[in-house]
Amino acid sequence: MTDASRELQDRMRALPAVHELLDRLDVTRVGREVGTNAARTTIEVARQAILAGTNAPVDLASLAMHAQQSLEQASGPPLRPVINATGIIIHTGLGRSAMSERAGDAIRAVACGAAPVELDVASGKRGKRADVVRDLLKELTGAESGTVVNNCAAALLITLSTLARGKRVLVSRSELVEIGGSFRLPEVIENGGARLREVGTTNRVRVGDFERAIDDQAAAILRVHASNYRIEGFTEEAALEDLVALGGEHDLPVIHDIGSGLLRPSTLSVLASEPDARTSIEAGADLVLFSGDKLLGGPQAGIIVGRRMLIEQIERNPLMRALRVDKLTLGGLGVTLQLHRDPDLASREIPAMRAIGRTVEELRTRAEQLAARLSLFGTVASAEVVETVSYVGGGSNPAQAIESVGVALRVSSMCEDEFARKLRVGEPGVFGRIERGCVVIDLCAVEPSDDGRLEECIGSAP
Ligand SMILES: *Cc1c(COP(=O)(O)O)cnc(C)c1O
Repeated sequence: MTDASRELQDRMRALPAVHELLDRLDVTRVGREVGTNAARTTIEVARQAILAGTNAPVDLASLAMHAQQSLEQASGPPLRPVINATGIIIHTGLGRSAMSERAGDAIRAVACGAAPVELDVASGKRGKRADVVRDLLKELTGAESGTVVNNCAAALLITLSTLARGKRVLVSRSELVEIGGSFRLPEVIENGGARLREVGTTNRVRVGDFERAIDDQAAAILRVHASNYRIEGFTEEAALEDLVALGGEHDLPVIHDIGSGLLRPSTLSVLASEPDARTSIEAGADLVLFSGDKLLGGPQAGIIVGRRMLIEQIERNPLMRALRVDKLTLGGLGVTLQLHRDPDLASREIPAMRAIGRTVEELRTRAEQLAARLSLFGTVASAEVVETVSYVGGGSNPAQAIESVGVALRVSSMCEDEFARKLRVGEPGVFGRIERGCVVIDLCAVEPSDDGRLEECIGSAP
């Protein structure tokens, strides 16, 4: 036997047994089974390292440290908060709207205990789930009633299934939208048990086109906000008021899917072309549908407001059971709606509104400070303040860009893709975007209170 193979054998023999390593681990948070698996994996990795001829330390103390680290990682929540430095304020891949602290507190308050979601507190009798937020929805949108389901796609599904099952829904050819891979209007209509009747042409649709499409199979007129694209040039669109008048003549409900969830017209110029629920209700739409986690800034939800009779019909649909929201959603949505009673309060407390309202000067000052501090880290090759273009996202305002400022980073030790990956897997993870060989940290959607953490994460990533 050569010296080398004897040494290898000695190192193998010195490896601890699984139970020895397990005894060294604190497994209170994960349990014995997970601990045993971690010990076994750690020993196996060490065995492979020895066979590969590396000098990695394989003594009991080192292995215990390794195994404990992997247990700590595995025992943290699988979904953890990250910093959104992408410049997309409402980023679907990052969980859409950040909620206000108040909404977060309300969710936490009901999460671990009981909350009367379907019981009327005064009478103790059975109530409807949406009763918790119904009055607020009425007050804020001017509608006769309102209800809540899981998301806006679900709102459309249950609305069509209630009003148009087995019949036809009239939709303008300019509005047959796809909003993120899984929401394609023709398919949602089909899933709601209705059939699509396309009206007009892609660029021009007049109210007369709708009128000609009405027959005894027609059950509803649907208008969908073109939230993620824009048709420009030689275009014409039927006014909502005209569709309402037409619907009235033929006894067809007009449904308006506005998508993004503004409750009233916004004073912010970036949101000037966003439809809002109050205006649609005032124009006479019978039902208005929108998301809870886009511009509204609440939890994922689909909100339906409009005529009381129609809302009652929708709430009686058996699909309601499959699409209903839980106490967490109701808790967060209720508080979010309360904030919207005062537009100033909403723009101060709702993170997306704060982000949209940030000035370029404010962002530049923060970017300059961040860049200066990052330049001090030896690992950062260059940190340059750059003007960037941000977007509201979440399917709002496709054409409207927001001026923003960021820091473009280069590191000497790795390429931009690897650096971006390191940032994403950090604690907390940082999601930037890659542009011209740099990782750009866009500050628009980052809360100023996160700037310190951002600096630490970036400085320690390479
Ligand atoms: C985003 C959007 C939807 C889908 O809303 P979800 O809440 O994601 O289900 C539907 N319609 C329009 C117009 C939208 O913008």
